Amino acid sequence: MSDTFLLVVEDEPSIAEVVSLYLKRAGYQVKVVGDGQAALDWMRSQMPDLLILDVMLPQVDGFTVIRWLRDRSDVPVIMLTARREESDRIAGLEMGADDYVVKPFSPQELVSRVRAVLRRTKGPDKNGSEKPLDVGDLHIDPQTRLVTVREVELVLTAKEFDMLDWLARHPRQVFSRDQLLEAVWGLSDYIDPSTVTVHIRRLREKIELDPSNPVYLLTVWGVGYKFEP
Ligand code: CA
Repeated sequence: MSDTFLLVVEDEPSIAEVVSLYLKRAGYQVKVVGDGQAALDWMRSQMPDLLILDVMLPQVDGFTVIRWLRDRSDVPVIMLTARREESDRIAGLEMGADDYVVKPFSPQELVSRVRAVLRRTKGPDKNGSEKPLDVGDLHIDPQTRLVTVREVELVLTAKEFDMLDWLARHPRQVFSRDQLLEAVWGLSDYIDPSTVTVHIRRLREKIELDPSNPVYLLTVWGVGYKFEP
């Protein structure tokens, strides 16, 4: 039994029950709550290791919950979305979700995603010995996973950190969206390449003085992105 604690926010009892059953069977400690307010109350006293968050919830919806959370923590979030529209998924990713699954999903698929997200976000640094990097007015520390820009500490999601760290360690090298997906998310059939676009935009908003005229994260039209030191 792992001591990894997962908070599941889902208002449909049948889904909540199945999800909880599979996650417990996979060895996780699981708490299920049925609405966004209950999730906020719970997280004020105990942050989970990972949050599984339904978008459509009574009263306080999933978007509100993730916005609240991202002001405070980079706890990984997997969103459950009932809608097939890309806009819903993009909105979740823009707000800092690490992954999403579209309903209806197989519980086993969700368990796999949970494992993958935890591996990416919790595991010790992949190379172990990477040193902090100073570029311009950016400071990137892979051990503590902290980034400061102009002396201000940033709140980055796990994926935002990984992408910035990757690009900054390969200065001036141009990467396509597919290459960045592979580098940052690993080989995954689930992730849409537009996810990369979303993360680049969010990183620009956090690190660039003028996000519409970036000096670090540059678009190479028709090819992809590069980091300019
Ligand atoms: Ca729902």
